[in-house]
Amino acid sequence: MALVIESIGMPKFEELLDSWDGETAVIHQDRESGSWIFICLHSTRRGPAGGGTRLKVYGAPAEGLQDAMRLSGAMTRKLAVAGLPFGGGKAVLAVPEIPSGEERRALLLRYGELVDSLGGIYRTSSDMNTGEADMDTIGERTEYVFGRSVGAGGCGSPAPPTAVGVFHGIRASVLHVLGSDDLAGRKVLIQGAGGVGSVLAEHVAGAGADVVVADIDPARAQLVAERVGGGSVPADEALETECDVYAPCAVGGTLSVATIPKLRCRVVAGSANNQLAEPEAAELLRERGILYAPDYVINVGGAVAIVGLEQLGWSDSEADAALAKIGETLREVYERADAQGISTGAAADLLADERLNA
Ligand code: NAD
Repeated sequence: MALVIESIGMPKFEELLDSWDGETAVIHQDRESGSWIFICLHSTRRGPAGGGTRLKVYGAPAEGLQDAMRLSGAMTRKLAVAGLPFGGGKAVLAVPEIPSGEERRALLLRYGELVDSLGGIYRTSSDMNTGEADMDTIGERTEYVFGRSVGAGGCGSPAPPTAVGVFHGIRASVLHVLGSDDLAGRKVLIQGAGGVGSVLAEHVAGAGADVVVADIDPARAQLVAERVGGGSVPADEALETECDVYAPCAVGGTLSVATIPKLRCRVVAGSANNQLAEPEAAELLRERGILYAPDYVINVGGAVAIVGLEQLGWSDSEADAALAKIGETLREVYERADAQGISTGAAADLLADERLNA
C-alpha cells in the first residue's frame, strides 16, 4: 500500500467527501503507476454524468480529489444551462509525472476499464493533458467515451465547435450592448491563439471584424493574425488594449479586482474556463458597464457538438443549430440580469439552477 502524503492544510479524503454536495466519488489507487484515479459524479439528475478526464501532477492526492469535485460541479451547471440530457462529472488521473508511451497507454487502458465498470453513469472526454488519441485508447476498453478521433469513429477535437459557440456568443453580446450583431468594423481582441482562439479568429474575421491576437508565443499570434488579415499585440498588453470585444481564450483567472479597472472593452466573451478570479469580479464588471458572457455558458460548444453528434444521433445541421442556441441562451441570461439588476454571472447561475431542478 502506497503512503498517502497529505499537503499541509489540505483536508483529507473523508473531510472532502463530507463537505461535497455531489452524488458519488470513485477513488481508485492505480498501484502499477503510482497514480490515483478520482471519478466524481456530481449529479445524474438530468442524465449520465459527463465530463472530461484531466491528467495532472498534484502536490497531494487529496488535491486531485478536490479538483475533480469542483470541476464536476461546474460541469453540472454547464450541461444544464446548455439543455443537454446529461449531469456533471469529472475524472482526475493524479499522476506522479505526466506519462508517455507504453506507460500512458497502460494507465489509460486500466482507467478505461474502471469507467466501463460504472456501466455508463459516467461518460468521459478529453480535458487538460488529454486529447483525442487518449480517448481512442480509453475507447478500447469502454464505449462510454466521447471525442475520439475521426478515424476511430469520433468527432475529433472539440476546439472548432467551441470556437463556433464563442462566435455566436460574441454576436449575441455585441447585439445586446451595441444594438446590432454585425461585427463589421468591430475590434475583437483574442487572447490565446491555440485550438479555440485560432479558429475563432477566422470566424470573427470572416464576419468583418478587425482581429487582434495576443499569445505568450508571439510567433503563434503573428501567424494567426496574418492568416486572418489582423494584427497582434504583446501578451502582457492584451488586457489593456482598447477593443469592442475581449475574448479570453488562453487561461482562466484573467478577470480580477486588479485587472477589471484596466479593461478597455465593451464585452468580455471568450472560451477560457474559470475567467473570474474572484466571485465579486462579475459584479465589478457590471458596475463598469462591461458585458460579461459567463464562461460556462459561452464555452460549451465542444461538449454540445460532441455529445450531440456522437451520442444523440444529431445531423450536422442539428449540431449547427445547437451551437447557434448558445447565443440565444446568452440573450436570456442578459435579459434576466438587466431585469433583476444582477450580474450576468449571477443570472447564469439562476438559469442553471432552474434547468437543473426542472
Ligand atoms: P490551447 O492550449 O490550444 O491554446 C491556448 C493558447 O493560449 C496557446 O497558444 C498558449 O500559448 C496561449 N497562452 C497561454 N497562456 C497565455 C497568456 N497568459 N496570454 C496569452 N496567451 C496565452 O487551448 P484551447 O483548447 O484553445 O483552449 C483555450 C481555453 O479555452 C482554455 O482555457 C480551455 O480550458 C478553454 N476551453 C477549451 C475548450 C476546447 O474545446 N478546446 C472547451 C472549453 C473551454
